[in-house]
Amino acid sequence: MPRTPFVAGNWKMNLTKASAIDLAKGIAKAAPADVQVGVAPPFVHIDAVGQAVAGSNVHLGAQDCYFQKNGAFTGEISVEMLKDLGVKFCLTGHSERRHVIKEPSDLVAEKADAVYSGGLTLIHCVGEKLEQRDANETLDVVRSQVNELTSKIDDPHRLVIAYEPVWAIGTGRTASDAQAQEVHAFIRETLAFIWNKDFADRVRIQYGGSMNPANARGLINQPDVDGGLIGGAALKVDTFLAVCNAARGTI
Ligand code: PEP
Repeated sequence: MPRTPFVAGNWKMNLTKASAIDLAKGIAKAAPADVQVGVAPPFVHIDAVGQAVAGSNVHLGAQDCYFQKNGAFTGEISVEMLKDLGVKFCLTGHSERRHVIKEPSDLVAEKADAVYSGGLTLIHCVGEKLEQRDANETLDVVRSQVNELTSKIDDPHRLVIAYEPVWAIGTGRTASDAQAQEVHAFIRETLAFIWNKDFADRVRIQYGGSMNPANARGLINQPDVDGGLIGGAALKVDTFLAVCNAARGTI
């Protein structure tokens, strides 16, 4: 089942407005057309970055959202507000939201439901902490995080899973190609169990965790790795484009 690789940059809480626009323009100018490329700037730069990538094949994304449609939720941003700015995809369950900001699983699940039901592409992040890997709990953790997804999801093209081992995020330590493939294959089996094999075969599963131009090709060449969610290497035009280009021809 051919799946178009999807490489998305998660800019986290980085960049001024001017540097975000420069980065977006640099990516838009040279992003390959045969790979789906996306950028998720901080909320306050989404509008400006949307204008910078307008007319290119770079998809605009968000790093988070709230699940309610509107109302008295101070500081929060709804899916409708994101769509109004041209956002096409939104992350849920990123490890920094789960473990640094302490977002509980039931809130992650509500957000994932809101993103998908609101019509955006959902990138749902899953991954184990180092102590969970050491205790052989990786697959249990990943299964329970995949199970945060609602069975209402019926379009496999609008569902993306990002497998991001917490111990590999921002640490310079990457899962080996074989470690990534093992967990990705397990995620696809879990998706097939929840939905069916045909559905699971169409879902893109990104790897995230210190992916860079040197290791991207080996990882994305694995049969169940369909692109990457990129943090540090997404903050420079040349390293991000090198990862995007590494995804070419890996189908
Ligand atoms: C991420 O935060 O999603 C990520 C993968 O970060 P990094 O590439 O810096 O490890």
